[in-house]
Parts: sequence; C-alpha cells; structure tokens
Amino acid sequence: MHAHPDDESSSTGATIARYCAEGAQVTLVTCTLGEEGEIVPDDLGHLKPGAVLASHRLDELHAAARALGLTDYVRLGGDGRYHDSGMAHAEDGTATARDETTDTAFWNADLLEAALNLVSILRDRRPQVVVSYDPFGMYGHPDHVMAHRVMTYACVLSGVHGYRPELGKPWTVARTFWTTNGSDDMATIISTAKANGVTSLWGDVDLDGPLPPMITRSEDVDVRVPLGQYRANKIAALTAHHSQVDMTDPFWRLMTDIESLGESFRLATGVPLPHPSTDLFEGLELTA
Ligand SMILES: [Zn+2]
Repeated sequence: MHAHPDDESSSTGATIARYCAEGAQVTLVTCTLGEEGEIVPDDLGHLKPGAVLASHRLDELHAAARALGLTDYVRLGGDGRYHDSGMAHAEDGTATARDETTDTAFWNADLLEAALNLVSILRDRRPQVVVSYDPFGMYGHPDHVMAHRVMTYACVLSGVHGYRPELGKPWTVARTFWTTNGSDDMATIISTAKANGVTSLWGDVDLDGPLPPMITRSEDVDVRVPLGQYRANKIAALTAHHSQVDMTDPFWRLMTDIESLGESFRLATGVPLPHPSTDLFEGLELTA
C-alpha cells in the first residue's frame, strides 16, 4: 500500500516485480494520485497540480505497473476519493503537513472510513503479507504517515469476526512490514556518491550516529530483497514516472545503478521469520 504513484517503484519495485514473476498474487493499493507533488521535467511544465496532473500520473502508474509485471492495482476508495495532501518542509529537513489542506486531502481522511475501504480490499484479495510505510512515513510525507495508519488499523479490523460482514469474510494478514533503507545499503550509496563527486546528497548523514528516520540499522532490517535480476524492472518502472523522476539525476542513479543494493523491510506485526531473510513470505504456508 503506497501513498501515491512512484513509491511502489522507488521503495518496492524489485520486490513487486519478483513476486509477480514468481506467480504470487500481488495487489497494489495507491491512496492518492500525487496531484500536488512536484513536476520535475521542464517539458511537463504545462501540467498544473490538480486533476490534469492526477490523470497524467495515473497514466504513468499504468506504464510502471506494466514494467513491473503487475496487473492488479487499485486506488483506495476508488479514483479521486482521496487527494494528495502536499507537504511542507520541517526545519530538520524532513517533510511535514502543510498548514492548510483541502477537505479531500488524504491527511484529513476519516481514519475509520479510510481503513474500511482497505478492509474490503483485504477481505477480497486475502493477502498473507501487507507492506506499507513506518509511523514516520519514511521521510515525513503526511500521506505516507496516513497510509501507515490506515494500513495498521485496517489489518486489525479485517480479521474481526462479525465486524462489518458486508465488507467480506474476515481475513487476518499473517505479516505486516514497513519499508525502510538498510544502513549497509546507505553506506554503499554514500561511498559511491563520494567516489563520483556527488556531495549534494546525504553529505551530512553519519551512519555511526543517530540515524535519520528513513534509515534502519541493517541488523534491524528483517527482510532484504536484493534488486538482482529485477533491477531492470525497477529502472523501467521509475523511468515511466517521468513527471516526478529524472533518471539522470544522481539521486535516482545511485538508487538503481548499484547492482548490489536491495529493498529493505521491517517486520511490524505477525509471524516471526528467520533473521535476516530475503523473502517476505518465508515460513508461511502457501495458500491457493
Ligand atoms: Zn511518496
């Protein structure tokens, strides 16, 4: 479950591509269409935030899904139910909510209503594993935070017998995970950046000191899915998000050029698994 288009590719692209290729049933739930987000390339400067940008980003999401081999992807509550809340910059460099947001912004969504929208999807698809953000939303984007809350709440409600039976038969998710970045991968990215003269990125990150919220000590990462053969899918999917991703930018190059990197996850709830693991489903019984 992701807040807006491109996060499915940037933080879980290889993971989605891998499980689709291995024949797992994968569903992507996107909460907003990123219609308040930054428009990166000059050639799309005519797109203005709002409905036009939403429709453009939905097209990009279709292309990214194709690149990942993903066929089942939906928007929470249906297209246009929740809008991008935008973000402001906090003094410490993380993101935070804007002072003013619209009534339909995801940040202002009623938590129960939004969770029930996800409960109907959970009870229909019956996933063993659900992935979303950590409580801080990786770097603080309000819609990431909201996605975390909605996912966490919905996974509780979904399993309760006799609760809202009109939304489907109860379903208990075996594991929930938070996306993160492992400190070992970040060390690789930072040293590669330095070696290539890129000083604008992560220059002030000290991996031996207190870590920023988007980085987790590698020993606390529960599952790391290597990019491996699915790195190409991830690159193709990110490239599809042309309105917000410039693949010539060192930030994206570093995230995708280094073959040894992986996508990292922390086990939030559910069945423990061997540590470290490379499989979100390790030890779970296959279901039909
Ligand atoms: Zn995001």
